[in-house]
Amino acid sequence: MKTESSVQTQFLSAETVAHLVKTLGIADCLRGVAEYLHVDYLRWEAFDKSARVASHSDDGVIELMPISDGAHYTFKYVNGHPKNTALGLPTVMAFGVLARVDTGAPEVLSELTLTTALRTAATSAMVARQLARPDSRCMALIGNGSQSEFQALAFMALLGVRELRLFDIDPATSHKLLRNLEPFLHEFGATAHVLPSVQEAVRRADIVTTVTADKAYATILHASMVEPGMHINAVGGDCPGKTELEAAVLQRAQVFVEYEPQTRIEGELQQMPADFAVTEFWRVLQGQAAGRTAAQQITVFDSVGFALEDYSALRC
Ligand code: NAD
Repeated sequence: MKTESSVQTQFLSAETVAHLVKTLGIADCLRGVAEYLHVDYLRWEAFDKSARVASHSDDGVIELMPISDGAHYTFKYVNGHPKNTALGLPTVMAFGVLARVDTGAPEVLSELTLTTALRTAATSAMVARQLARPDSRCMALIGNGSQSEFQALAFMALLGVRELRLFDIDPATSHKLLRNLEPFLHEFGATAHVLPSVQEAVRRADIVTTVTADKAYATILHASMVEPGMHINAVGGDCPGKTELEAAVLQRAQVFVEYEPQTRIEGELQQMPADFAVTEFWRVLQGQAAGRTAAQQITVFDSVGFALEDYSALRC
């Protein structure tokens, strides 16, 4: 009798992923993910891309993020529920699949909550490597929740940031972040301070990372706070009705995005007219478009998180 061979799908639980990251070391994981991202962003044209599919509710959003390069297909399920922290749950949770295109066989099914934080931070650092001033050493980190620790580590490990200036509307969250960062500050010879306002945190910073969670048109960073030469890594504004930057910040800057059709809907760009000029980041990496062209220029990475980044994380 002819029998069908069964598909061996590897399952990576949250515990397995956490164990893997602990064993490899978080800084090396971030470096590794950034390398895969770099390689895949250079292959941009090979991917069948689409904006993610979002299901919105009063409390948050649930999204599906598919992508394929013809050999592999991946998707991620991810939510964003800012009220979750009050319930003892993370704001962002995720899982995903990597499958073969030729047979459709799912090869990996993985919990992706920790992986999402890693790939988001690695993407931010990879982009900043191209766009921030090379002598950038000081970063303001606005919003000190789950993602922020990974952002801090990625910028210390991949960019050479050595001073972190922290602000959160909840000072206890900033102090918790400070405690979590302590061994890494020691490792990188870096310092970190909690500041009493956004204004004081961003003063004289080379890089400003905004990673707050509020389902609202928030204005965390005003144009009056932005100094010449800053690179702004805007991570928290990532779905319709949720922004962090004053529109005037974008008007003063050169703005870079992951996948323009998605960012127009979800990013800081939702505040701007449809013809507001932006550059897709892959063009900079491929040498088709300019990145930073002057030390005094203001650059913005309007990050929303793109399916390619989950593809890279799932295959590495
Ligand atoms: P979190 O809830 O753990 O942390 C958010 C923090 O922001 C909280 O500590 C909160 O007190 C703080 N905050 C809220 N409003 C603020 C304000 N006005 N000023 C200063 N701090 C403020 O959330 P998280 O998991 O760290 O996620 C942060 C954001 O990043 C979310 O909006 C999430 O959707 C987004 N995100 C983006 C990507 C991407 O690829 N761009 C990926 C993952 C998460």
